[in-house]
Amino acid sequence: MQIARVALDVPLHRFFDYLVSERETLCATDVGLRVLVPFGRKAKIGIIVDLPASSDFPIAQLKSIETVLRDLPALPPDWFRLSEFCAAYYQAPLGEVMLSTLPAGLRRIDPPTARKSQSLLKLPPPQEAPELTAEQKTALATMADDGKGFKAYLLHGVTGSGKTEVYLRLVETALLAGQQVLLLVPEINLTPQLEARVAARFPSAGLVSLHSELSEAARTRNWRAAFEGRARIVLGTRLSIFTPMPDLGLIVVDEEHDSSFKQQDGMRYSARDVAVFRARERGIPIVLGSATPSLESWANATDSRTPARYTLLTLHERAVENARLPVVQRIDTRLEKLQNGFSGALLLAIEKRLERGEQSLVFLNRRGYAPVLTCTCCGWISHCTRCAANLVLHLADGCLRCHHCGFESRVPKGCPTCGNQDIQAFGRGTQQLEVVLAERFPQARILRIDRDSAKSRKQWEALVEQIYRGEADILVGTQMLAKGHDFPKLTLVGALGADAALFAADWRAPERLFAQLMQVAGRAGRAALPGEVLIQTQFPDHPLYAALVRHDYPAFANEQLKEREQAGFPPYTYQAMLRAEAPLMADTLAFLTSARAWPQLGMHGDVMLYDPVPMRLARRANLERAQLLIESPSRRALQNFLGAWGVALNAIKATSRLRWHLEVDPLEF
Ligand code: ADP
Ligand code: ZN
Ligand code: ZN
Repeated sequence: MQIARVALDVPLHRFFDYLVSERETLCATDVGLRVLVPFGRKAKIGIIVDLPASSDFPIAQLKSIETVLRDLPALPPDWFRLSEFCAAYYQAPLGEVMLSTLPAGLRRIDPPTARKSQSLLKLPPPQEAPELTAEQKTALATMADDGKGFKAYLLHGVTGSGKTEVYLRLVETALLAGQQVLLLVPEINLTPQLEARVAARFPSAGLVSLHSELSEAARTRNWRAAFEGRARIVLGTRLSIFTPMPDLGLIVVDEEHDSSFKQQDGMRYSARDVAVFRARERGIPIVLGSATPSLESWANATDSRTPARYTLLTLHERAVENARLPVVQRIDTRLEKLQNGFSGALLLAIEKRLERGEQSLVFLNRRGYAPVLTCTCCGWISHCTRCAANLVLHLADGCLRCHHCGFESRVPKGCPTCGNQDIQAFGRGTQQLEVVLAERFPQARILRIDRDSAKSRKQWEALVEQIYRGEADILVGTQMLAKGHDFPKLTLVGALGADAALFAADWRAPERLFAQLMQVAGRAGRAALPGEVLIQTQFPDHPLYAALVRHDYPAFANEQLKEREQAGFPPYTYQAMLRAEAPLMADTLAFLTSARAWPQLGMHGDVMLYDPVPMRLARRANLERAQLLIESPSRRALQNFLGAWGVALNAIKATSRLRWHLEVDPLEF
């Protein structure tokens, strides 16, 4: 009797043996086929990972495979190696990794039948490739000189410097060499422009996109096109890094610093880091591009003490002739009384744009009308009953809403505690700025762009269209607006409320702030009209703003890295986080305390475990949350420790409602 070892989507660190029915004879090339097998009382789809000569279980106990599915070719060995790497690195069960990275349509027994896909893709007409700038030529020549094989490049170029054009030339070369290309982007929602640009340049390359807004059937179809080699270019969000591509010859990660490359549940992987592993494994080049690289990548490309692991390529100037970087200025808000949050200088600048028929963007990274509603009589504040957080006032919908658990209630007419009729909004969000600007500039057409006004890709595209057609004079928006868009008439950006991130408890906050401001500044004056950026701040002398005014990312990054090295933070140390949640904090902390008291900890000398502490948002949706930080100067020591410890964690007795997970290289604290 032949035995097949099968990976299943279950949270266990093991495979399952099944008998192969007498009708079938499987051979080595069938490893990687999908199978339908009985599991418990149900049937499940699994993947054959081995055809072992014998099983650890008595043959009589093994069940038989119901069907060997041959609708899809066997998954290839490099796909297995990628899954194995991720399972080991991120401490996730291998079966779960393998199945969860397949499109849902291929791991379900009854996938929905394909509906006609509605492509949102519009082609802006096909464009000739421009003559390259000197800097673009140098970057491309450096890569061409390196020839074949693995090599990681960090393409650091200011916004509008022509990074995308560099990608397109690399794609062209790869396609001519008969290779496939994988282009990773942070949020496809925000980048229909890139999709259109790639399609216009390579109309016959069978470009497919892979992202979460596709229907299940469309996603399966596109994935198959890539796997079967019909699609030569794949443009996708983080999950697409797992797409098997037989001729893969180049990976590009655009906006490589973006935190949406990090998966936030299940296997918490970083698609950028997985991409680097995949490129190395396959022996192909990878390009990480950004105007504000992650500090990890910057250190990899510039650390002078160790041989640089990435090659740094720089584009200092904007590609379009005469398109200069915007002038960035600080407005010291200590010197004047603000008018509903606006400085006189910013209001005046907006007014000038209105007179000239140009667009302004007011940037505030907080949606809603106000972050909290308060009673000045008794001190009541709008708390979420399920979270340790405030309910945000959404005046446009007349409700209070929790941004953590989604809880909603009507705005009360008076104070729920003392009946006082005069309850007040405290602080400001984008909705309020919209209202303030409408009062101040009644003639202006104002458009708000945040996750409330652009919930779906369709809504987002409709808003973007409106901006393009010049149907808006003032845009009010969150970081959603900061990414990937050229609005030719936009010449002014005003940033409000940026200071909060300077002194945040999260030591990564300045890195994110700098990137956001740099991106949002990059929106101004991209075409013929020069741009201006005004940053309202109470700390005009802060080095972060000083570097921003000079568009000097390297100065900012090097300063931050120095601080991180002194403080012993990543990338100079390696971290993992054990997080737990349960209805009672006592249970949560008890679990983490047991985890920390693991008797074999002493054998892992290079690893340090901190004390368990409640998370900043200590309660969410009625679950009390805490975490335990693990740190080591050695990546390997940390990995060895996590491998052994992870097994031990499964054996800790805890209340049945306790949930925990391990995150390697956590980004948020
Ligand atoms: P980035 O990706 O760095 O933001 P893009 O590749 O989008 O920059 O280029 C910004 C603008 O400059 C685009 O409008 C693009 O068409 C244009 N561009 C890029 N390279 C060149 C070039 N070599 N000559 C002229 N225009 C260029
Ligand atoms: Zn009250
Ligand atoms: Zn809540």
